[in-house]
Amino acid sequence: MADTVRFPDEVRASFTGELIGPGEAGYEQVRRVRNGLIDKRPALVARCHIIPDTQDAVIIGREQATEISVRGGGRNVAGLAVTDGGLMIDLAPMKGIRIDPAKRTIWAQGGFTWKELNRAAACHGLATTGGVVSSTGIAGLTLGGGEGWLMGKYGLTIDNLLAVEIVTADGQVVTASAEHNLDLFWALRGGGGNFGVAAVFEYQAHPVATIYGGMVVHPVSRAREAFGFYRDLTLAAPDELTVYLSLFADSTTTSTHEPKVPECPLGPRPAE
Ligand SMILES: Cc1cc2nc3c(=O)[nH]c(=O)nc-3n(C[C@H](O)[C@H](O)[C@H](O)COP(=O)(O)OP(=O)(O)OC[C@H]3O[C@@H](n4cnc5c(N)ncnc54)[C@H](O)[C@@H]3O)c2cc1C
Repeated sequence: MADTVRFPDEVRASFTGELIGPGEAGYEQVRRVRNGLIDKRPALVARCHIIPDTQDAVIIGREQATEISVRGGGRNVAGLAVTDGGLMIDLAPMKGIRIDPAKRTIWAQGGFTWKELNRAAACHGLATTGGVVSSTGIAGLTLGGGEGWLMGKYGLTIDNLLAVEIVTADGQVVTASAEHNLDLFWALRGGGGNFGVAAVFEYQAHPVATIYGGMVVHPVSRAREAFGFYRDLTLAAPDELTVYLSLFADSTTTSTHEPKVPECPLGPRPAE
């Protein structure tokens, strides 16, 4: 369904990002998300640079669009970051970050991917639980709970979430944390992108030096052994070790349900 979303001239004048509609330069690129099968066409893409851009977009979208979508890293497989015919609020240009080494906190805007955040935090010898695949966005992953290599020791991403600055449906910016708007903070920790546009995330970080990891692949004929090893290992493993076990079917397998290869990537090496 196609509709029209138009920013009035006086709002356009103060909007610091880009407003890109069908047929305009860059449209084909900014409407794309990681999953190439997603082919939705928003009526307008609002690429926000600062929080007031996001406020404008929410207010205009609420007044005019049949649907609003929010894009963080654009890695959601179902393509929920992009809407057909509505307004897409794209936070990808929002890349402000501040690391406080003394308090061990990370303050990062919603356009970051985990690769970018990890790199910035690592300069201070810090990290927090992020995604296993670092191309995922911090926004979508955090709002969904977030699991990753450090979770055995430090819990899920939301266990390390200290605060969220969020633009609510009425265009207000509020802080949700253990001290402010506790009910909203509860909802944001796992409730997904349903409670507003999360512009800033603040995390507790931890001293993390080198991480040893990788994938060990076994043939399916040894699956029983691999499962037994995995069970024994995880029963006794220290918190520093995060281990996944995966089964893959490859294209040569006759049944797509047949397990093909177990996998055991290893997280941080246990303290010696
Ligand atoms: C290859 C791959 C590996 C993955 N690995 C992990 C993993 O290790 N651990 C894990 O927990 N998950 C993992 N995931 C799942 C991933 O966390 C989700 O797909 C997540 O939604 C991606 O976040 P994003 O910001 O890139 O997504 P987007 O596609 O941008 O958005 C996903 C959803 O969140 C909403 N959203 C995005 N940003 C905001 C915002 N700022 N405010 C409000 N709503 C917003 C969107 O509207 C949409 O509904 C993986 C996914 C992929 C594709």
